[in-house]
Amino acid sequence: MNTLDNILEEINKAESIVILTHENPDGDAIGSGLALYNALKQIGKNPDIIIPEYPRTFEFLPGSNEIKKESNVEKYDLAISVDCATIKMLNGFANYFENAKVKVSIDHHSTNTMFGDLNYVSPDAPACAQILLVVFEYFKIEVTKDIGTCILAGIITDTGGFKYSGVTSETFEFVAWLLEKGINVSKIYRKVLQTKTRANFELNRIAINRLEFFEDGKVAFTYITKEDEESVNAESGDHEGIVETGRDIEGVEVSIFVRETDKGCKVSMRSNEYVNVSDVCLLLGGGGHIRAAGATMQCTIEQAKEKILRQIKSVI
Ligand code: AMP
Ligand code: MN
Ligand code: MN
Repeated sequence: MNTLDNILEEINKAESIVILTHENPDGDAIGSGLALYNALKQIGKNPDIIIPEYPRTFEFLPGSNEIKKESNVEKYDLAISVDCATIKMLNGFANYFENAKVKVSIDHHSTNTMFGDLNYVSPDAPACAQILLVVFEYFKIEVTKDIGTCILAGIITDTGGFKYSGVTSETFEFVAWLLEKGINVSKIYRKVLQTKTRANFELNRIAINRLEFFEDGKVAFTYITKEDEESVNAESGDHEGIVETGRDIEGVEVSIFVRETDKGCKVSMRSNEYVNVSDVCLLLGGGGHIRAAGATMQCTIEQAKEKILRQIKSVI
């Protein structure tokens, strides 16, 4: 039996299942979670999906109105975590995972710590949602329009709209297949990537004004404070995309964005061609992918900036 056989066996056995994902969920986290939620319902299961807070942008995804903020089930038979590299990133909701009788992690982060009893991790996949395509095919679960929509939202998010290097021919085959099914791909694309909230725009404006260059223009650094977020009435996810602005500037190899939160400084790092930001973030206590990674640092923004720039100096 391989891992997927074992996971399917646990799904079939379980009477109570909970689906979880990482804190500050992005489109891949929510899309993967809801794809799995809809798929499990389709095979007669009645899972819970718990995501305390997520950006309004994703309210169009099928099943999102059934997302719970918490649950009073103390011990689920099975907990499945999607798009999450470490137990720590499940945040305060790790207890549902830790208390469950059987724990499964389905993910695509190369820095995944294999924190499940069963781990299905494919670091080559550009999005966790794309792994689910393989999983559902193996489980013989039909990918309906609803499931396809959730998966597409995940893939579009994590590939920046099919433009990052992780995109494979399977990605485009899947999109072609969705188009044949009559799914409005461009509408989903627009909803996921092009609809900015006003607060997101205002935060971007602040971050752009503050952006500094280092290492002969190869490094871009910017940040936002809690006060900034309060001043624009920011909601969950309104900081998304700010780190991309620096990366898109000619000559920049690494873009760094630091966000002050109640839990410390959240660092987002992106690279273009040769710097492995996952390695850099591992040294800062985080992780991620080669071209997109992050970490949480317990210090001030100034201290974070100094530490990060020191690490970057040796790899740029
Ligand atoms: P972000 O900049 O928050 O969008 O994160 C970029 C990538 O790095 C995502 O795939 C995250 O899941 C991952 N990541 C961010 N922070 C951490 C962390 N503290 N530990 C491990 N992976 C992380
Ligand atoms: Mn994610
Ligand atoms: Mn992902």
